[in-house]
Amino acid sequence: MNDLSRFANHYWFKYKRAGACSELRGRVCIQVVFVSSPNAPWSERSQNDFWKIAFDAREILLSQARHYGVPLEIDFRGLVMNVPAGQEHNFVPYLPSFFHRPTLAQAQDYYKDYYSCDEAPIIFVVNADGRSYAQNDKRGDMWDYDEMSVLRRPFCPGLFMHELLHQYGAQDYYFPAWLTNLAAQYAPTSVMLSGSYHDIDEVSAYLIGWTSRLSARSQWFLEQTLCITEESHRRALEEEWKKKVY
Ligand SMILES: [Zn+2]
Repeated sequence: MNDLSRFANHYWFKYKRAGACSELRGRVCIQVVFVSSPNAPWSERSQNDFWKIAFDAREILLSQARHYGVPLEIDFRGLVMNVPAGQEHNFVPYLPSFFHRPTLAQAQDYYKDYYSCDEAPIIFVVNADGRSYAQNDKRGDMWDYDEMSVLRRPFCPGLFMHELLHQYGAQDYYFPAWLTNLAAQYAPTSVMLSGSYHDIDEVSAYLIGWTSRLSARSQWFLEQTLCITEESHRRALEEEWKKKVY
């Protein structure tokens, strides 16, 4: 049985194909923007260390895409964006002049055409400790930008995957506590539960366009999460952000 119509109003389904990117397949060209400031600089050596992590993340993504029978190629392009001292966490105001475009969505479209690829997600990396995140203007989050990912130290392949998958519509499983517990039963090694893991569970695979079928177990997980609303998500997100201060 694969009738998913009862989940049509599931909060997560609203974001399927609604992130910055629609489906993680085909030729993907990831733009990695090293946000560099005098107090959080990106030396050549630190950029190389980051690329090792990005390449590991790519290997894992490609092998999981093969498992789902999804054609996927990932290329990377690196850019360095210099910002004034102390502005490495507040780089958003510098984006329009950096990209010569008023929005990130337009910058992505430019790269998509320029590299003739299916998607050109943009990932910002800040060489300082902090919380990593992705955000989506369709949720009314902080800024008037399309969904973007921001990675901060400590970097690891799972973190790279987690934030990239958000841009394709995958959802967090690690808060609030009841969802963490539920997801730990459903997919204990899902990358959406923690960046220490690398598995793309079936519900995440569905949201990023890797499968159209969901097992009974995945449908059970969706049933248990039907209660999530825009409002409950927003409250949980606010609580989550209060927890750890860097
Ligand atoms: Zn997340």
